[in-house]
Amino acid sequence: DVVVVGSANADLVVSVARRPSAGETVLGSDTRVLPGGKGANTAVAAARNGAAVSLVGAVGDDPYGEFLLKSLGSAGVDTTRVRKVTTPTGLAFITVTPDGENSIIVSPGANSALTEADVDLGDARVLVASLEVPITVVEHAVALAARSGVRAVVNLSPVAELSPDTLAVLDPLIVNEHEARALPGFDCSRSVVVTLGARGADVVTPEGTRRIPAPQVDAVDTTGAGDAFTGALAAHLARGADLVAATEHAIAYAARSVTHQGAQPPRVAPPGK
Ligand code: ADP
Repeated sequence: DVVVVGSANADLVVSVARRPSAGETVLGSDTRVLPGGKGANTAVAAARNGAAVSLVGAVGDDPYGEFLLKSLGSAGVDTTRVRKVTTPTGLAFITVTPDGENSIIVSPGANSALTEADVDLGDARVLVASLEVPITVVEHAVALAARSGVRAVVNLSPVAELSPDTLAVLDPLIVNEHEARALPGFDCSRSVVVTLGARGADVVTPEGTRRIPAPQVDAVDTTGAGDAFTGALAAHLARGADLVAATEHAIAYAARSVTHQGAQPPRVAPPGK
């Protein structure tokens, strides 16, 4: 039902009392190794929402790559389109301070090796892409989807400048409030969904803007909330829901996702465990 084009990273998470400043060393907790990457997070969320999902991506031929493939597989994501490359698996170095704030360095690694030739939409109804992979690959995937009658959804994260041709066919373009500020105007996509954190989301179509509120939850970790939202939305669109109904489902699912640690619930032991 759903093809996701995007990244897979191992998240290496260390809790620290405070961030080191330049030239300083601080001691942190043991390292937690969690499955992450915007593409993989989105694919897992779509699978959890009942879609048959395939990820188009790349990992290195190393233990982190094996870990990500296993973790995706156990979440029910088809990994036959995830290519093993000689570049190391993408890594995210994440420090978390007691106030819950993250600082993240992403080393894209294998994700940068993804090419247009890797894109295969199969018999998907919905394509979802995010931008931790080369922008040329995303633009190619969207063009291919538009030509084949596949609904194209892009989560503009991290922010990148997409061509007007790409923006014109997205239904929807998904942005958070920060990303929305980087956009020249909304009138270039068929529809736009602006996620608003604890406030829910706005669905923007030519008919107007509709605010859909989020349920109140005890948020413990909002990492990956946008990815959870995007995957759930795609799954419900693939099942035939209209955009407002799919957004309602996505808000409910994303709200639940912020009540646990990590961008995805881990199911497979990390390397060396
Ligand atoms: P991003 O993770 O890309 O920054 P948002 O912070 O807008 O995106 O979150 C995406 C979605 O996740 C929101 O639209 C909402 O459905 C859900 N969400 C995020 N934070 C909360 C929260 N504190 N309470 C309830 N839902 C939340």
